Amino acid sequence: MDNSELVKLALGARKNAYAPYSGFLVGASILCSDGSVFCGANVENASYSLTCCAERNALFAAVSAGKREFEAIAVVGGKEGDISEFCPPCGACRQALSEFSSDGKMRVVLFDGKRERELTLDGLLPCRFEL
Ligand SMILES: [Zn+2]
Repeated sequence: MDNSELVKLALGARKNAYAPYSGFLVGASILCSDGSVFCGANVENASYSLTCCAERNALFAAVSAGKREFEAIAVVGGKEGDISEFCPPCGACRQALSEFSSDGKMRVVLFDGKRERELTLDGLLPCRFEL
């Protein structure tokens, strides 16, 4: 699966975002090493700290299904219908993703409505926390 296909799935997942408080809608799709893909959308809560990002929802769905190795994650998001800026993962999601990318080579694919940008998890989180 190429980056564009992964972005399309993230765009589709974004339609399910539940963000009545911020209006910031995000979708993510994570590509497992076996070729399967899991999607997630952000889910907000009236108690704001309970909100969970699209990236972690996608990751946790995959891990809950037994997946442990990942190639890439695509993330698209923005206020209401606007996706004109890249939406990189927050710090918490970078750390959560790094749990399953010990070499940091997981690709992080962003999309601003026109262009794709490919980064690596290591580039986004060079000094991850490890035990
Ligand atoms: Zn996040």
